[in-house]
Amino acid sequence: MAVIAFIGLGNMGGPMAKNLLKAGHTVQIFDLSADALADVTAAGGVACESAAHACQGVDAVISMLPAGKHVKLVYEDEQGLLTQLPQGVLVLDASTIDSQTAREVGGVAKDRGIDFMDTPVSGGVAAAQAGTLAFMCGGSADAFERARPILEAMGSPEKIFHAGPAGAGQVAKAANNMLLAIHMIGTCEALSMGAANGLDPAVLSTIMKASSGNNWSLQVYNPWPQVMDGVPSSNNYQPGFMVDLMVKDLGLADEVADASEIANAMGKLALSLYQEHQEKGNGQRDFSSILEQVRKN
Ligand code: NAD
Repeated sequence: MAVIAFIGLGNMGGPMAKNLLKAGHTVQIFDLSADALADVTAAGGVACESAAHACQGVDAVISMLPAGKHVKLVYEDEQGLLTQLPQGVLVLDASTIDSQTAREVGGVAKDRGIDFMDTPVSGGVAAAQAGTLAFMCGGSADAFERARPILEAMGSPEKIFHAGPAGAGQVAKAANNMLLAIHMIGTCEALSMGAANGLDPAVLSTIMKASSGNNWSLQVYNPWPQVMDGVPSSNNYQPGFMVDLMVKDLGLADEVADASEIANAMGKLALSLYQEHQEKGNGQRDFSSILEQVRKN
């Protein structure tokens, strides 16, 4: 079992750190929030007074932070972890950030003999709690093999992917969430069109699931209330995956597309529709609530 530093114990990081503890790892923890720190300390984490303190004597470091600027601060600042960690330590940043920052931090780490991987996740808080996250990893093949047993304590073994070199995990995550937003909006439009013409959304869902319109939003996350049990649409759009986070991820996808000169017209439209939905006060609701933007009856 490994000694692991875990930095960032929020909605996602907290349950991920607890799953590492359940798997028998020693987890040295740090968060700016005393409440977040206390919660994981109660589950057996070793509370530390700084990120650098948490990294003493570890085999690996995992971070789960809000955005690229926090990742840069933690790793690249004058007092940042990359200036302090010994060579050979494995660093896994599971935050969703821009691929440019991931590449940059990965490059600095490599120069210092530290194995860095961007390992953003898909699955949300429920999967973080259940230990069934998907991981999309960017870094060397060696780092991926070293990371795998650690990631398996927090995710499903069949959903841990090596996407390519540093930054590739973030590009994969951006591509996936851009596609998710597009098929969620498309599913909402198709169901609304059917309902406006007298079709039962449950019947139309069954028809499209057996036809070429089938997709994940329809299959496991139906946005129409009461068509499916146990999904946010049947629970007043309690998240789930918040509109605020979808807007963040679509913004990151848009940056990747622009930087690579891809004409992502659908991605840009999805971003503007989600921004409009967010501005109407829906930021904290599940992203499938975008149905209300298109639903007429
Ligand atoms: P969160 O805001 O709940 O948690 C972030 C934590 O980081 C907070 O506890 C904060 O105090 C801590 N933090 C910030 N700066 C820090 C620093 N310098 N040192 C130590 N701790 C610091 O966010 P979250 O929902 O857990 O999301 C974390 C990341 O995971 C984000 O990048 C998000 O986009 C991504 N993500 C979230 C979800 C989701 O459903 N919540 C799903 C997939 C991916």
